Amino acid sequence: MSAGSRTVIVGAGFGGIAAARTLRTLLPEPHRILVVDWRPEVSLGAGHTWVLTGRRRPEQVSRRLSGITRHGLEFRCAEVVAVDPARRMLEVAGDRVQADALLLAPGARLTLEPLPGAAGVAHQFYDLDAALRLGGALDSFAGGRVVMTVLAPPYKCPAAPHEAALLIHERLARRPGPDKFSLSLITPEPQPMPVAGPAVGAAVRELYEQRGITARFGTKPVRVHSPSVTPAGSPPSRAVAGELELADGTREPFDLLIAIPAHTAPAFLRESGLLGGQGWVSVARETLATTFDGVWAIGDVTQVPLAGGGMLPKAGVFARAEGEAVAHALAARILGRGAPSDGPPVAFDGRGGCYLETGRGEAAFAEGDFFAEPVPVVTLHPPSRAGLSGKEKFAKDWARWY
Ligand SMILES: Cc1cc2nc3c(=O)[nH]c(=O)nc-3n(C[C@H](O)[C@H](O)[C@H](O)COP(=O)(O)OP(=O)(O)OC[C@H]3O[C@@H](n4cnc5c(N)ncnc54)[C@H](O)[C@@H]3O)c2cc1C
Repeated sequence: MSAGSRTVIVGAGFGGIAAARTLRTLLPEPHRILVVDWRPEVSLGAGHTWVLTGRRRPEQVSRRLSGITRHGLEFRCAEVVAVDPARRMLEVAGDRVQADALLLAPGARLTLEPLPGAAGVAHQFYDLDAALRLGGALDSFAGGRVVMTVLAPPYKCPAAPHEAALLIHERLARRPGPDKFSLSLITPEPQPMPVAGPAVGAAVRELYEQRGITARFGTKPVRVHSPSVTPAGSPPSRAVAGELELADGTREPFDLLIAIPAHTAPAFLRESGLLGGQGWVSVARETLATTFDGVWAIGDVTQVPLAGGGMLPKAGVFARAEGEAVAHALAARILGRGAPSDGPPVAFDGRGGCYLETGRGEAAFAEGDFFAEPVPVVTLHPPSRAGLSGKEKFAKDWARWY
């Protein structure tokens, strides 16, 4: 391919930035690498629970994307509104952008729409501003029933709701005080972190039991009832009381509702022909190649099939490893040889782990071989101080990519 090749990467989150930076080390400068992201800055999801518990400020867990140009990358802050994968053509804010190689890393779109009545009542912490608002609501929370509910799997980081529940419990036990609140989780999933298997699920349930957090599994929320919705359904900045109606017809009263939003593929992919039966981009699991020549996809937007019928969890640790692997395939395509440095092709191996901060200065670590046969093998290392140091190192490593 000519020295003037252009690789376009959609999304500068966990996966996109890892791919872009790795590719830059493999491709000489005349080859252009354009990163497109509609947000001027990104945040570390694992840091959102630090923001909602008041331990870090938003700017400590976010990075401005304008700075990535110092790594030899081009950056355009604009929305991708359509993609034609057969021609590797993007429509970006009114322009057509042609790519010699195209990597899609736009993550997932998050929405509360499938839960009528949730807008203006339910808090969440999956975006950084919402985590900050939830932190404010917890500050002024005088006590009562806190209900956290999952709209639908899959969602980013299967450990995140449990981490948030444990940390919110620790925070509320200090103020307003242990006798003044209750905390419950309601989720349609059969157990905590189903992809990790029954042993991990039992270990997480035990953490709940030790703290008196209640949990209802296999229960889907269907509607929120509240007399005090914010004007025009704008996100709430304080606790709003109401009732959560469940699919079994019962209602769960709450004084503060926290919802894990539903996740879908971003809208610009809907007509692209890239989405598989489950609504995510279909890819080959070791190479992350789509069925279109020169087009790859990584991270939360993909469905990576696992033995036993599951899907690889949506987690930054996988998006990053996939990005690094795909960078080698992209370089090989552009440089026209087997692989950069003529080494063996780099494959994504489905191994990785996530931290689950449990409070009391500790974190557990769920580590897995997700491509294992006949089912993924996941081990939960129990909560420890070393675990929390591991999460802090994970956060520092993330910041270094930007
Ligand atoms: C509370 C929470 C805790 C988490 N904890 C962990 C953890 O401990 N460990 C872990 O590994 N993972 C964790 N995660 C998950 C992790 O953040 C995601 O899995 C990861 O960010 C996915 O990376 P990605 O590159 O696929 O997408 P993202 O990081 O979401 O990046 C996608 C980018 O694409 C951009 N984009 C989207 N659509 C468009 C468009 N149309 N045009 C232009 N740009 C677009 C977005 O602005 C975004 O910057 C957590 C997530 C949350 C929310």
